[in-house]
Amino acid sequence: MASANKLHQGRTVLVTGSTSGIGLGVARAFAAEGANVVLNGLGDADEIESLRGAIEQDHGTIARYSPANMLNPQEIAQMVAEAEAEFGTIDILVNNAGIQHVSPIEDFPIEKWDAILAINLSSNFHTIRAALPGMKKKGWGRIINISSAHSLVASPYKSAYVAAKHGVAGLTKTVALEVAEQGITVNAIAPGYVWTPLVEAQIPDTMAARNMTEEEVKRDVLLLAQPTKEFATIEQVADLALYLSGDSASAITGSTISMDGGWTAK
Ligand code: NAD
Repeated sequence: MASANKLHQGRTVLVTGSTSGIGLGVARAFAAEGANVVLNGLGDADEIESLRGAIEQDHGTIARYSPANMLNPQEIAQMVAEAEAEFGTIDILVNNAGIQHVSPIEDFPIEKWDAILAINLSSNFHTIRAALPGMKKKGWGRIINISSAHSLVASPYKSAYVAAKHGVAGLTKTVALEVAEQGITVNAIAPGYVWTPLVEAQIPDTMAARNMTEEEVKRDVLLLAQPTKEFATIEQVADLALYLSGDSASAITGSTISMDGGWTAK
């Protein structure tokens, strides 16, 4: 139910790539704190409609859905314009949409490179470019880019993902400096492995391929680089996004904040 003392009551939050995984968890967390949310992402229309309806029903806020493809700058601009036409301003922008492809660089398909750079990096540029004037007018805003441990360190065979996520760290710093005196903060959350349906789905095949137990796959394959040997959770990422969006985080800007169980401490 809506209540006046929720953390983000009456604010508008746009989360790209929020039809599953981390983005959906972030959107739900903001709705639980009273925000109106704009969902975005790919997927089955009926399933998306039921996710959207459930958010409104569970939290008493407005939830809209934009089918904008993050490959397409015009569709991104239209998504922001429609959100602003309905809600006035996007107060909090969460750039989360992302894809992966794993391959040695000499075999890396050119169209995969282009798509990963477009979705994981350039879409952040396009959303920020479109949403920032509204935030400036209001004198308040929060931009949170969901990057990755791969914005700080590399792994082989992930050239496009690592390049794009390092780019997100640079974009985060640059925009933070441009708006530092205008009540707007710009930060990135850099998770290691997060327990999402996507990660969970890899386990049975890996168990079969390597003749391992579920625990062995988690510990010795997926969490090889993560010293705590624990996945981060979607709720933990969402909690950090809520914190960064609050007024107590107004001094944090231009930062990439790791949530990687010690991965990048090595
Ligand atoms: P996911 O596959 O569950 O969700 C990705 C979302 O992006 C989906 O809603 C999907 O529809 C959307 N998307 C993909 N292509 C799109 C396009 N062209 N246009 C619009 N939307 C599109 O993945 P996730 O694990 O929740 O990842 C979310 C973000 O977190 C990504 O940026 C990813 O790089 C980052 N991340 C994930 C992990 C992890 O372990 N899961 C770790 C570090 C960083």
